[in-house]
Amino acid sequence: MIEPGRPVSQHNPWSRLDYFIFRKKLLHRHWRRLFLVLLTLTLLACANVRLELTPSPTTLSAAPTATTRPTSTPWVPLPTATPSPTSTPIVRAIPVQQPCPLPDLALGQFISASGSYTETEPVASGRMACRIERGSCAYDQLVGLVDPTIRYKREETPPFDTEDILLHPAMVAPLARLNELIQAEWGGLTQLRITDAYDSRLDHDPPQTAANRAYSLHYEGRAVDLTTFPVDWDKYGRLCILAHCAGFDWVLNEGSHCHASVAGLSLCGQCDK
Ligand SMILES: [Zn+2]
Repeated sequence: MIEPGRPVSQHNPWSRLDYFIFRKKLLHRHWRRLFLVLLTLTLLACANVRLELTPSPTTLSAAPTATTRPTSTPWVPLPTATPSPTSTPIVRAIPVQQPCPLPDLALGQFISASGSYTETEPVASGRMACRIERGSCAYDQLVGLVDPTIRYKREETPPFDTEDILLHPAMVAPLARLNELIQAEWGGLTQLRITDAYDSRLDHDPPQTAANRAYSLHYEGRAVDLTTFPVDWDKYGRLCILAHCAGFDWVLNEGSHCHASVAGLSLCGQCDK
């Protein structure tokens, strides 16, 4: 208690109880401030977390960059896949390539390169210019065709057995083409066979016995006689028309074989000087 008349300064205002209460209040304030500070920090921390979470929008903004999908626009080529229909006409073009869509050549029938059934051999392939003799300069211009996929009869006695492979150079291309057509026609089960080509012995033109009157393009190597192998006469009508489609200038179905000739430049005058 304060005694009256006693200076306040001399009075000790802090009783032990007061001091205790004061200290308690002080601590209470202190804890209260501390709590507020912690609460504020907590709130700020939460706010930071949210702020840190907000970067997600940046990822969202990046997401639109994912719209780089436009780069995936190369998918657009899909419509370009539509040009495939344009390829359909190509498929339709295949039947056009059907080889030799012509009727078989009947027995005794002939056909020229122009498709004429009346044009004779001298008109279609040209007349025989000479009879090439073995060992002559023109003889040396003949070519020897040796193709393992082609059969050669070679029935003559040596050295004439090699004449079945001797040909005018213009014969090589149509023979090669005919060989392809035959393999395509009969699937490799039937081969092309050459029974006669160049002939120095004048065996062709049978009725004619006079050598100076014998006439045949075989003597220039511009004619060949063809069969199938194995031999199948029923196939010769087709074989002859295939020879026409292969590029021979004149083809005749002689029944036992197809006679085919070309209009190549005669070798007879090649060595004349
Ligand atoms: Zn012939």
